[in-house]
Amino acid sequence: MDCLFCKIAAGQIPSSKVYEDDTVYAFRDIAPQAPVHVLIIPKEHIASLQEMDEKHNALLGHMFAVAREIAVSEGVDKTGYRIISNVGDDAGQSVKHLHLHLIGGKQLKWDN
Ligand code: AMP
Repeated sequence: MDCLFCKIAAGQIPSSKVYEDDTVYAFRDIAPQAPVHVLIIPKEHIASLQEMDEKHNALLGHMFAVAREIAVSEGVDKTGYRIISNVGDDAGQSVKHLHLHLIGGKQLKWDN
């Protein structure tokens, strides 16, 4: 599978790791949109949220639990942050491996 984020999770392409366990990997976005911009991915290749089903419920819940932990370690749990997952072309999903963006550390705008 020729997938950038699979290679990052496997350590074949370098990244700035923030968190890792058996099923989830998190690393700093290479083009941060805010002082804190971390990507949280499953190690399993799943193209997007739309490709998930019931059997992934525990994994998805775990990814959000990891997001909460990272919010604490990055110091944005009290100030606030945003979780985004782009799905498909209209959302501008550029990497076809499910990822949660955790963005914070400044007052975020909402413009689409
Ligand atoms: P999306 O547009 O939602 O698919 O998000 C993909 C994100 O991956 C973008 O914010 C990119 O900046 C980020 N990205 C792409 N390549 C890398 C990389 N090698 N290391 C870290 N982040 C990356």
